[in-house]
Amino acid sequence: MECQLICTQCGKRYAFGEPRLRCDGCREPLEAIYGALRAEVKDQGSILRRFKAFYPFGEVSETMSLGEGATPLIPSSVLGRRWGIDALYFKDETQNPTWSFKDRGTFCGIQYAISLGYERIGTVSTGNMAASVAAYGAKAGLATFILVSAGIPAEKIKPIAVYGPHLIRVEGDYHELYDESLRAGDRHGIYFINSDAPFRVEGSKTIAFEICEQLHFQVPDYVIIPVSSGGNFRGILKGFEEFKSAGLINGIPKLIAVQAEGCAPIAEAFERRREKVRRVRNPKTIARAIENPYPPSGNQVLRKLKENGGLALTVSDEEILDAQNLMGQEGIFGQPAACAPLAATKRLISNGYLKPRDRIVLVITGAGLKVPSSLNHLDVPVISTSIGGLTEAIGKVIEGPC
Ligand SMILES: *Cc1c(COP(=O)(O)O)cnc(C)c1O
Ligand SMILES: [Zn+2]
Repeated sequence: MECQLICTQCGKRYAFGEPRLRCDGCREPLEAIYGALRAEVKDQGSILRRFKAFYPFGEVSETMSLGEGATPLIPSSVLGRRWGIDALYFKDETQNPTWSFKDRGTFCGIQYAISLGYERIGTVSTGNMAASVAAYGAKAGLATFILVSAGIPAEKIKPIAVYGPHLIRVEGDYHELYDESLRAGDRHGIYFINSDAPFRVEGSKTIAFEICEQLHFQVPDYVIIPVSSGGNFRGILKGFEEFKSAGLINGIPKLIAVQAEGCAPIAEAFERRREKVRRVRNPKTIARAIENPYPPSGNQVLRKLKENGGLALTVSDEEILDAQNLMGQEGIFGQPAACAPLAATKRLISNGYLKPRDRIVLVITGAGLKVPSSLNHLDVPVISTSIGGLTEAIGKVIEGPC
């Protein structure tokens, strides 16, 4: 299908084969646009094969798939009832091959890189994106460059190193590294699938596509997303917009962007009705996966929120940890960033913004086991007994405290 890249701010167009991340005029992010979209969804195959009509790739290389996407939409069975909400769902992205939604965008970005003839890929990250790009780079047999900043502890690097990428520690400002990576990529023929690269954003569309299918094409009222660079938010909204323009659904949910109090450039700009994000000095939150102090897609998220009628808000680290425990009661273990939507939901129910009849989907972006230190604060309620006392000890638990 015919595809161009268009600047999200000034509308300047670029050819599909120009592997750019940003507009050379206004430096805002680009996105893929297509001609008329066909309402065609296949039953079988990877996410890109199933939704092929919404992508510009001729043939998709299925051998590069690790089984990303196709995650469950799990109806709440505890909290919805407790809070009086009829239809509360968790889109459980922890069940991806490297335990976060990043795998969708990585798979899509690699298809793009390969379609342009690249043999090298890379990213700038120390977290979920690094692990995802390293895993898919290995699977695809591409030389893979992961750039990390100098202060990174070994225990964060090892779960990336296991996939065998070229790991490069770089001294200096992390933000300059993003731009410098693009220059190095141009020079050495490396396609950097960074946070809001157009074809990473295209991968996130499939979250929306799947939610539509799983709700039998009845769109939810709200989709609540933890936001850092803004790439995933943009992709999910674009997915709903494209399904609507293809005639598969007849409305668009309101999107709610959640950020952490200690790093909330988008939510702050939203509340003050500014059109541009401002860089946050000294970001600090337990939710490291949403700690981008100057989000590259921040301005575009603000533009889209205005048009969509959605909302951006912040939650505290305390609320996030509380939400992590609450989500455990549903059988789902999210990392702190992934629990921010539940923290926001709790608040928005208590202040009356969300209503009992609303259909609400929370995007649980990444798995809790990736950040085991987030449980350091927990008191573990363990019962101790000797072997001889075991039967009695269990009996006491069953009878409850007298
Ligand atoms: C990357 C990430 C986010 C933020 O996504 P953006 O596209 O950068 O806004 C949220 N949660 C988790 C777990 C992530 O890995
Ligand atoms: Zn532009």
